[in-house]
Amino acid sequence: MHGHSMRPVTSAPAADADAGLQVLLADPRNVMLVPLVAEDRSIGVLVAEHGLRRGSRIEQPVVATTEQFMSHAALALHNAWLLEEVRALAARDALTGVANRRTFEQTLEREITIAGRHGGAVGLVLVDLDHFKQINDRRGHQVGDAVLAEIAGVLQRVAHGTDLVARYGGEEFAVVLPGRDLRAAAGVAERMRAAVASADAGVAVTASAGVACVPDHGPGADALVRATDAALYAAKRQGRDRVAIAPAPTRT
Ligand code: GH3
Ligand code: MG
Ligand code: MG
Repeated sequence: MHGHSMRPVTSAPAADADAGLQVLLADPRNVMLVPLVAEDRSIGVLVAEHGLRRGSRIEQPVVATTEQFMSHAALALHNAWLLEEVRALAARDALTGVANRRTFEQTLEREITIAGRHGGAVGLVLVDLDHFKQINDRRGHQVGDAVLAEIAGVLQRVAHGTDLVARYGGEEFAVVLPGRDLRAAAGVAERMRAAVASADAGVAVTASAGVACVPDHGPGADALVRATDAALYAAKRQGRDRVAIAPAPTRT
């Protein structure tokens, strides 16, 4: 492409000289090159061939109309990209880059509904960093922030497939595990605990985790979160740097 000449080109010889264009059009005649410009940046180019006789020129009104059409197209494309970017940002936690609380809640509800239909399981893990206040107090809030971002990455690397790692709040993360029963979810939680303990986050850091799942601790998201949270507190009470599994609910 002739990068410097972004004006519409209406003569065939200029197009003939361009190797890239010849891949697109075998025998280019009456070719128009119209830049797609959004916010003063070129985001693409339209290559159009006008079906006229050889040797005749493309009329100026055709060029003008095409240019105008392309400026609308560029704007529409640009707006679509912006919307996509805003949506992606709104779903994530700014500090850590993992899903935010809202995405967590939506995902958990959706996965529980799907599991309910097919009789499947959804595991939930809540991970809370141990004595995190001490890290802030001793090393400063900025180091604390960096540790949070690092640990989020550690959890994300243990998760895979349809697992969702989210920042649940402060120094607490929630992991939704579609299709994983209590045993499988506990396995993920233990791998996460071990990965945090051996992470190179600049400071020694450990985490405690609670595990529960539907259908065992359901039926709904609220009951599941409550059971997982209770298990997390049990892990804290038992000495931290460990995983606790929610007990089977007593049926009445
Ligand atoms: P425990 O082992 O019982 O969980 O102890 P803890 O110190 O981790 O628990 P506590 O809930 O008392 O303290 C949580 C700390 O996490 C307090 C708060 O300042 C810190 N924290 C929460 N959000 C952020 C954050 O975004 N950045 C930083 N640097 N610290 C945060
Ligand atoms: Mg904590
Ligand atoms: Mg906490």
